Amino acid sequence: MNKKRGLLSGLAIVAATCLALTGCSGSGSEPEVAENPEFADGTTMAKLADAGTITIGTKFDQPLFGLSGPDGTPEGFDVEIGKLIAADLGIAPDKIKWVETVSQNREAFVQNGTVDIVIATYTINDKRKEVIDFGGPYYVAGQSFLVPTGNPGGITTEEGKIADSLKDKTVCTVVGSTSEENVREYTDKVMTVDKYSDCIEPMRSGQADALTTDNVILAGLADQNKGEFEVVSGTFTEEPYGIGVKKGDDEFRTFINDTLEAAYEDGRWEEAWKSTVGDNLELPEPPAVDRY
Ligand code: GLU
Repeated sequence: MNKKRGLLSGLAIVAATCLALTGCSGSGSEPEVAENPEFADGTTMAKLADAGTITIGTKFDQPLFGLSGPDGTPEGFDVEIGKLIAADLGIAPDKIKWVETVSQNREAFVQNGTVDIVIATYTINDKRKEVIDFGGPYYVAGQSFLVPTGNPGGITTEEGKIADSLKDKTVCTVVGSTSEENVREYTDKVMTVDKYSDCIEPMRSGQADALTTDNVILAGLADQNKGEFEVVSGTFTEEPYGIGVKKGDDEFRTFINDTLEAAYEDGRWEEAWKSTVGDNLELPEPPAVDRY
């Protein structure tokens, strides 16, 4: 961490304290915003920097990664990653327009320009890469199950035992997610909803025996509903999280990848993790960016 960043981190702590004490909007860090960054004419970076604003799609119901705060502004690790990218475009956090995306509408929102980028626990995969492109990954999650505390049904992530442990059970997950696709390899008894938080009531009423998605989303939901649920240990997939951009916008994708790598190096990525996920999960190693 260089001196300038160190000083700015100090300011970020002061800002965070102000927020905690006064309840002013937002949370997490206040990244250093680039002053008049230069970009080649005609690039998405130049367009966004000139406009002084960026529209980012993220989740609004996922604690730790993207959760709507008291004033409606989302908070979480994905949100912090968005702030970093905006900051390197010269755009301050309060100039970001946040749009709620659910799993199913992410590709469409990128394709039709509803958002400039999507940062929303969004797994990079070949099927999605047919219609959009991805910067990153900036984190790698894995799929597991959220179950009632004590795991009465004995659901497991252990390879070779998953299908058996799901026998006669109903699993809730979200339409348009890799979680749905993955779990269907083990069971047909799948209940689909629009958002992961919509699985909580069915779990409470016994309509669903488990919720399946990425372990980090489950950890956030377990934390939000303390004592009620637990996350089954282990994972049975790899979910590299990427930043969705318009297909073919290679300059913008390169800029995003450069920003991520710089943030790995100078401590901003780690700060983003600590200020959001914090002690809920172990600090991971940042994954290698895939410049495909
Ligand atoms: N990462 C998975 C996906 O992109 C599951 C989480 C989500 O639906 O956001 O589909």
